[in-house]
Amino acid sequence: MNQPITGRIHSVETFGAVDGPGVRFVVFLQGCPLRCKFCHNPDTWNPKDGQEISAAELIEQISSYRNFIRKGGVTLSGGEPLLQPQFVKAVLDGCRELGLHTAIDTSGGVPLETAKPAIDAADMLLLDIKDIDPDGCRELTGQDNQNALSILRYCEEVGKPVWIRHVMVPGLTLQTDKLKRLAARLKGYRCIKNVELLPFHKMGEYKWEELHIPYSLADTLEPTKDEVAKAKAIFLQNGLPL
Ligand code: SF4
Repeated sequence: MNQPITGRIHSVETFGAVDGPGVRFVVFLQGCPLRCKFCHNPDTWNPKDGQEISAAELIEQISSYRNFIRKGGVTLSGGEPLLQPQFVKAVLDGCRELGLHTAIDTSGGVPLETAKPAIDAADMLLLDIKDIDPDGCRELTGQDNQNALSILRYCEEVGKPVWIRHVMVPGLTLQTDKLKRLAARLKGYRCIKNVELLPFHKMGEYKWEELHIPYSLADTLEPTKDEVAKAKAIFLQNGLPL
């Protein structure tokens, strides 16, 4: 008999409204290869934490909510879901059989070859481009942006819809030059259906304290309304859908 496919998850949210179109069942998977300075879920980092669950069991849980998420769908988030591609594929295949729309919310911190089976199984991706500058990205997250950009190119090739997410951190990513470079890079992609520019916030800071991890952005201010409006204008000028 085949072994059941299992994965590790951190938690679920049964009526998520911010992780893809419509009301969604969101699964936060455990484990992340990045260490973003602004992370609000550092408790998802350790791949050994969380709870082990079989794909079949998770699909059954999702199925019990299917009437509520029929017009929305299911999003696998994290942590980094693409660290567990076979599990993600199994869960998404099960959701597809239930007639549910599926999305992966990823930081693109995993090589494309590893991530492909999971990406192919999803209806769409929510993809973080953390910093358009490779060195800046390494400073911000511990990794450069090459995997994320490869995943974006792949989505363009196969016509997979993508929503881009970008966190604007004053002094790091919230710089006119970087925003212009990012908008110029994203401009030609037909697969990009939406760009979400997310103002940096410190709502997860308490988790860093609980885990005794030094939080380096304690003195960083949240962007002003004016800064956010100027950033959005750059993307709109480049014809990107906000
Ligand atoms: S990719 Fe997400 S979960 Fe991982 S460190 Fe960055 S913000 Fe946190």
